[in-house]
Amino acid sequence: MMRHIVFLGPPGVGKGTQSATLAKELGIPHLSTGDLLRSAVAARTPLGLEAQGHMDDGRLVPDELVLRILTERLAGPDARAGFILDGFPRNLGQAQKLDAITTLDAVVSFELPANLLVERLSGRRVCPTCQTVYNLTTRPPKVPGRCDRDGTELIQRPDDRPEAIATRLAVYAEQTAPLLGHYRRAGLLRAIDATGNPDEVAARVRGALR
Ligand code: AMP
Repeated sequence: MMRHIVFLGPPGVGKGTQSATLAKELGIPHLSTGDLLRSAVAARTPLGLEAQGHMDDGRLVPDELVLRILTERLAGPDARAGFILDGFPRNLGQAQKLDAITTLDAVVSFELPANLLVERLSGRRVCPTCQTVYNLTTRPPKVPGRCDRDGTELIQRPDDRPEAIATRLAVYAEQTAPLLGHYRRAGLLRAIDATGNPDEVAARVRGALR
């Protein structure tokens, strides 16, 4: 059974949505460094305050901060059963750190054409209360601008604005895409087509992990 899984792919590809689905099915935690950092920002912790500027601009947060927040989370009792890592590692240094602390079973690589990434990112809206993710075209809320679950006014992530999207895609190509080769050489990489609706993609993810 696969229990130490990394979801790899560019921003907007649907890693977060798919991680949430699969983590529930497998009974293991979904560990998103982006979510952990956003919570730290919201709570205005010293780490969050240091991370915020990098995040809002679409740049990577310094490794030292990300590793601190992730190591703490990995020490949680639920992570002993396994995990799906979403958004980590993002560069070769982080991948080497991860190799040193755990043995991965699989790395699922999500593939989507760049124009669709931009469409998914710019249409994304999130509920600041329950973190549910919507999309203006593919998954609109029932009442425009309001969360289906709790009625909170939906927001756009600061880093889903056009300038930050461009930076994030460039950072991915430069720093994160080299991880594909790293994990291919390790025999761990399983690539899937991320086009289509979330159910179609989830079926491909399950197939890739079989
Ligand atoms: P995400 O939710 O995965 O799109 O992450 C949002 C932002 O958090 C990124 O654009 C980075 O600024 C920061 N971030 C998340 N994960 C990492 C990581 N592994 N290394 C550095 N920065 C990260």
